[in-house]
Parts: sequence; structure tokens; C-alpha cells
Amino acid sequence: MTSNKTTYIEQPTLFIVPTPIGNLGDITQRALDILNSVDIIAAEDTRHTGKLLSHFNIQTRTFALHDHNEQQKAQVLVDKLLAGESIALVSDAGTPLISDPGYHLVTQCRQAGVKVVPLPGACAVITALSASGLPSDRFSFEGFLLAKSKGRKDKFMEIAKAERTCIFYESPHRITESLADMLEVLGPEREVVLARELTKTYETIQGLPLGELVSWIEEDENRKRGEMVLLIHGYREAVNDTLPDEATRTLAILVKQLPLKKAAAATAEIYNLKKNALYKWGLENLE
Ligand code: SAM
Repeated sequence: MTSNKTTYIEQPTLFIVPTPIGNLGDITQRALDILNSVDIIAAEDTRHTGKLLSHFNIQTRTFALHDHNEQQKAQVLVDKLLAGESIALVSDAGTPLISDPGYHLVTQCRQAGVKVVPLPGACAVITALSASGLPSDRFSFEGFLLAKSKGRKDKFMEIAKAERTCIFYESPHRITESLADMLEVLGPEREVVLARELTKTYETIQGLPLGELVSWIEEDENRKRGEMVLLIHGYREAVNDTLPDEATRTLAILVKQLPLKKAAAATAEIYNLKKNALYKWGLENLE
């Protein structure tokens, strides 16, 4: 079957279309144009997506594609694409494939030579990171925390020394236990940000040393409610612990005669230490 909606779309394409994570105003004009123009919208939950579509007065027909049927139904959709129909993939909220269905469909489309076009848009990981105040130059998205304590603790141990910001999705009914496990493995000093209800009325973004965050969340039951993202500051070596007193004393003397960079390099050579660690210590303690 060839498409009768070909005015906007030049060739059969699978479009990956993000939808809002709370605030309907976050849908893009391009997303609306694509949802209007395609022949089919493959949706994680057709009833949920139906509400979004009727809000924007979009009449395109939907097709259910969720975690439980994706492996079988992906081929049906690929066949439709190969027959000339265009499809938009959406999930309940945010960007499809990010802790949401779509992986099998995209893989099979690419294998079959079907064009796949991603649209940028709402995504809780990126939205949370952008306002967290944590380093964003290197980060990893680790998906949902596991439901069992042992699995969670293993995961925290795995990332304990990672220097990047690590980001998790968490469900409200496990947040207390998850933070307790995190505290046990990472300790009370690690800075952690809880970003909940992003883009919604009760949006809260709270960053504190983990020990304080655990107390903060216990002060008000509402803080445990809603959708949430947890962001963990990367591991930072405690510089003072690793630099011998003799070396920092030498650096303090040298820095009276030399710029810090040179003083750190000289001290590093004398004591066979890392000049960056000395430089950082100097910045924090001598400047
Ligand atoms: N595909 C989505 C995305 O792009 O972010 C994520 C879908 S995943 C099934 C749902 C999880 O994302 C929630 O349990 C929560 O951890 C996070 N999430 C989604 N919307 C959120 C929001 N408005 N505020 C905070 N976290 C949110």
C-alpha cells in the first residue's frame, strides 16, 4: 500500500518522536507536524497517546507497540514501511528507547534499509542533568535502579570510583530504600541530586551531600512522590589524604618564589607525585 499522506514526507520513514515529560507545551512544532503527517503512530500505550493526540487534534491512527509485543510486532511495522507507509514511534513520555520500547523496531528498520529519522525533544535524563549543577562534561545514564537491594548495592559499588556523573531513574515507592543503599556504599559526603516532577507544577531539584539528602527527603512525604531522577556526583579523590605533609609544606614554600603551576611541577618531581594533584591542592589551600 502506498501512503496517501505524502505531502510532508518524501520517502517511507520511521520517525522517533519525543513527547512531553509533563508539560504539554514542551512538544515541538516539528513533532506535531510529523504526528499529523505519518500514516501510523506506533505507541507504547495507545490510550495514553490518544489523549495527547486529541489534545492537539491529531487524527492519525495508532498501533500498539510495547515491551511485551515489540519483538513480534516490529516486523509487521517494517513490512508496512517497506510497503510505503510512514510511521512515528512515540512512548508514554519523553524520548522513545530511553528506558522505553523501540530498540527492536529501530534495529530491524536499519537492517532492512528503512530510513530512521530522530527528532530531538523532551528527555528526563538530559532535563535533570542540565539543571543539576553537577559536571555535565562526562556522564552516564544507567537506566532504572534495580528493584532488589543486592542488585542496587552491586551497581553502586561498580560506579563508586567512576569520575563521571551517573544518572538513574527511580520509582517513588523505592526511593527510601535506594537512598539507604546508596548511603551505605557511597557514604554521606557524596553529592547527590534528586530531580522530581520535572516540567510539572511541583518540580523540585534538590542537591545535597547524600547524608543530608536522606534527612531532607524524610522531612516531607511529598518529596518522595512523583517521577524522579537521581544524579550522583562522580568520584573525587580526597586530595589531602593522598599528599604527604612534607610535599604540601614544600609546595607552600616554593609558591612564595614561583607561580603555582611551576611550584607544583617542581614539588611533583621531588616527591614523585602527580603535579595536577599538587596544583589542585595549591588552588584550594594556597591561593
Ligand atoms: N523516555 C523517558 C525519557 O525520555 O525520559 C523515560 C521513560 S521511563 C519509563 C520513566 C521514568 O523517567 C520515570 O520513572 C522517571 O524516573 C523518569 N521521568 C519521566 N518523566 C519525569 C519527570 N517529569 N520528572 C522526573 N523524572 C521523570
